[in-house]
Amino acid sequence: MNRRAFLAVAGLASDAQYTVEAKFYEKLAHKKIKCKLCPRECVIDDRERGYCGVRENRGGTYYTLVHSRVSSAHIDPIEKKPLFHFQPGTLAFSLATAGCNVNCKMCQNWEISQVRPEQVRATYLPPRRLAAVAKENRCLAIAYTYSEPIIFYEYMMDSAEAGRAAGIKSAVISGGYVSQDPLKQLCRAVDAIKIDLKAFSQKFYKEVVNGELKPVLDALVTIRKLGTWCEIVYLVVPTLNDSEEEFRGLARWVKANLGADVPLHFTRFHPEYLLKNLPPTPLKTLERAKAICDAEGLQFVYIGNVPTHPAENTYCPKCKKAVVERAGFTVNALNLRKGKCKFCQTSIPGVWQL
Ligand code: SF4
Repeated sequence: MNRRAFLAVAGLASDAQYTVEAKFYEKLAHKKIKCKLCPRECVIDDRERGYCGVRENRGGTYYTLVHSRVSSAHIDPIEKKPLFHFQPGTLAFSLATAGCNVNCKMCQNWEISQVRPEQVRATYLPPRRLAAVAKENRCLAIAYTYSEPIIFYEYMMDSAEAGRAAGIKSAVISGGYVSQDPLKQLCRAVDAIKIDLKAFSQKFYKEVVNGELKPVLDALVTIRKLGTWCEIVYLVVPTLNDSEEEFRGLARWVKANLGADVPLHFTRFHPEYLLKNLPPTPLKTLERAKAICDAEGLQFVYIGNVPTHPAENTYCPKCKKAVVERAGFTVNALNLRKGKCKFCQTSIPGVWQL
């Protein structure tokens, strides 16, 4: 949908319409508050904002400033998220607000993620209207993406509820830097969560992300435990998170803690934002990462951002035939029947519309 069409279905609003009391915070003395939405747990004075820049303390009450405040919206193939085992070949109405709770040096969307809401143009799109727009545009899902949806948690939760009432699913595209209580509620409200696992080392999280690894691993375990559909994306950044030990450690951790059937996507890095000095990921590095994870027993390991590579397809782990054939974001063949391989009837984990 182009910008003009989008503005025609949505609307402009005053700041007050975007301001809703936040969930997950604790009131402290002297009108301070402690935010408990993400592991950063910002302690915030009256009239100040947290690290993410979109939540503000006003007289001891904490508010989100970005409810229904959409700064980016597009209709994307679900493969672009990427989610490969979730309604393949369908469209997702994809949106974001400004703000993020980390600062990745390789961020592709830093113009919206690293700014305050007042610094970008926004459109008012309340949850029921959002669900209706998604439906009118034949999207089977709403995707909360581009920036970090955890920081617009209240809007996402209300939209997921409105989506369900309208028969539209919800997919969250997140870095997984979220506290456990809000995550558990989120898992029950949405249908799929894709986690960008930025690396398998605390060093990378500290130096490149300004975050922490452990809460993200804990989030993955919780999502799996609660049964919400989950896929992992690992952007391979040359020299920073591309060692064989790291890939092997990741594969073993995933298998032991999440199971061998969690889809894992290794995607190609392109020089962006603060890491323009590095080259794109060599194809052989991505293939080596996949080979290591395959050898460790993971069943669905993909290579992304390399259109027409055979590792874009989903292969049945039993008969090894392609059950979903892809080329870039296009699905060319769906050899699934009620979630089973058409050739040998093995169940393929995922959320399938066929
Ligand atoms: S959500 Fe924002 S305000 Fe809350 S702890 Fe995280 S960074 Fe701080």
